[in-house]
Amino acid sequence: MNASRILVVGSRNRKKIGELVELLAPHGFQLRTLADYAQAIDVVEDGESFAENAAKKACQQAVLLGEWVLGEDSGLCVEALGGAPGIYSARFSGPGATDASNNEQLLTRLAGVPRDRRGAYYVCHMTLSDPSGKVRIDCEGRCHGRIREVASGAGGFGYDPLFELAEYHRTFGELSGAVKAVLSHRARATRQFVPQLLTLVAAGGWPD
Ligand code: IMP
Repeated sequence: MNASRILVVGSRNRKKIGELVELLAPHGFQLRTLADYAQAIDVVEDGESFAENAAKKACQQAVLLGEWVLGEDSGLCVEALGGAPGIYSARFSGPGATDASNNEQLLTRLAGVPRDRRGAYYVCHMTLSDPSGKVRIDCEGRCHGRIREVASGAGGFGYDPLFELAEYHRTFGELSGAVKAVLSHRARATRQFVPQLLTLVAAGGWPD
């Protein structure tokens, strides 16, 4: 019923886009990504929180593209590291960081930290901007676990081979995409986001 409404996923991370599209696809919106728009920019992520960065990603692209844009900012917070890498998760190991170099950096920083002090959680902040740049939805999902001493599994992306999910005692790397699609921080944020999105549409807040 909402298939005429275009929702742009404001990310360039292909793995992340894959997960978001899978989570949002059942809800009838016409999903697009920044790759569909030549005029899309690379938003500078200089906010001081996941919320600020998600809002920047949503609002700046929305005004530029004249579309409704979902901004998503996510990352890993490790308790023994005072919440690091947090908003710096994508670039934890410095310029030219890759998933492999970030994971290596994480293991180095946690060397010698015992199992019971390796608690961590993923955060996913989602912000929806209307085409004028006004924030219409703002929500966050978290997923708790701990950081393994050795990477395991090839599923997911980023820190997933090191992130052991609290409920399963398996890393997201070891678990199927179907499990991640229910229990991840992104899934939990989406479960808050979608009902608000549908309410917005039903209330006429997203005109045809
Ligand atoms: P962003 O694109 O600036 O939001 O940075 C996201 C970064 O957080 C990614 O590059 C990963 O390092 C990390 N991250 C976010 N979500 C996940 C996930 O689901 N699995 C593993 N790493 C993640």
